[in-house]
Amino acid sequence: MKRIISDLPHDRYRERTVLVRVDFNVPLDHGRIREDYRLRQAIPTIEYLSQRGAKVILASHLGKPKGKVVPALSLKPVADRLGQILRVPTVKFVEAAVGESVKQTLTTLKPGEVLLLENLRFEPGEEANDPVFAKQLAALAEIYVNDAFGTMHRAHASTYGAAQLFTDRLAGFLVRKEMDVLSQVRDRPVRPFRVVVGGIKIKDKLSALKALLPKADTILLGGGIAYTFLAAQGVATGDSPVEPEFIPWAKDVLAQYRKHILLPEDHVIAANAEQRDRLQLVHREIPAGFMGLDIGRDTSLTFAHELLQGTGTIFWNGPLGAFEVDECADGTVDIARAMALAHWRGAFTVVGGGDTVAAVRKAEVLETEISHVSTGGGASLKFIGGEELPGIAVLSEQSQ
Ligand code: ADP
Ligand code: MG
Repeated sequence: MKRIISDLPHDRYRERTVLVRVDFNVPLDHGRIREDYRLRQAIPTIEYLSQRGAKVILASHLGKPKGKVVPALSLKPVADRLGQILRVPTVKFVEAAVGESVKQTLTTLKPGEVLLLENLRFEPGEEANDPVFAKQLAALAEIYVNDAFGTMHRAHASTYGAAQLFTDRLAGFLVRKEMDVLSQVRDRPVRPFRVVVGGIKIKDKLSALKALLPKADTILLGGGIAYTFLAAQGVATGDSPVEPEFIPWAKDVLAQYRKHILLPEDHVIAANAEQRDRLQLVHREIPAGFMGLDIGRDTSLTFAHELLQGTGTIFWNGPLGAFEVDECADGTVDIARAMALAHWRGAFTVVGGGDTVAAVRKAEVLETEISHVSTGGGASLKFIGGEELPGIAVLSEQSQ
């Protein structure tokens, strides 16, 4: 059984050094944190350990520096922000993830204090799950905690190799919350259970779709993935991003679950994503030379109407159009607002996916207007799909 930090006796943390893998992969804009949701979600675990007298080491990645030091991807701005939002005596920062400077700073760390390490991915050993780097990380602390839900699907040194070297490996409160909410949605949804899936790449959504199709009362499909289903029905899709290798599967799904699936009936189209001044609205068929960039207004209304029937559970992953282009964001914005209204009326609403969460913000729907905004993109979909996440599996591996 996987254990969480509150399963250890309180006094076990006193004066112990605890390595906490967090997911502080936040959007930065010239050193300014544009959005600190992931930092706030990690507060309960950090303060819990600090209040029990632990010396707390925080380790995270940020962006994709690919094993090199990229100053623009330093975690220093995150340390400054943590200093403002955490109720702990001090937040220190060290410009390395392992090595002499880290050891030196650790000797000055007092119980209750917090030390943030530099971006783990400045080290080539992190993503390679290099045993030497894992050992260096593990040597820093006596207890290991993973609260980085968004990184659980990666077997990296900080999420896997280092974890294996600790006797005490525990999940943090955020990981537990994400697992509780997502397993409730997957296994025990209050009905009616509605699922909205958009975005691109069916492959990324496959396990989640397979797990949710038999359970959902309705599945609303939009965004890039919907065109594969339309093509499977023989509807003309023009130059829309159809994935031919999934057409046979889509046919099977439609044969089995047709009554439960809603597909777009109209589309916002253009010759390509750059032609935003020449958008057109078409019903049903997309002519050759055009691609679907958003669901149309009728589809939006049908989808929103469906989401507002009854107060059960709604899970949403994947934007319904190329929402980054303002002119192609209407469908996604309409659905985000329908989700907010459904929540206000009492539905349990869950949103997962990096781009989907960004789309919800673009729609100006607040965190408080959604029951649970998952910090995990790929991780939340894989969890819903019942795939094993290495970061979670390694916490259960221990022989206790
Ligand atoms: P998430 O990160 O939430 O899991 P995805 O990565 O699957 O979502 O999908 C997000 C991307 O899908 C966005 O970049 C969006 O522009 C794109 N997208 C959605 N619908 C379309 C479409 N019709 N045409 C092109 N791109 C689309
Ligand atoms: Mg994405």
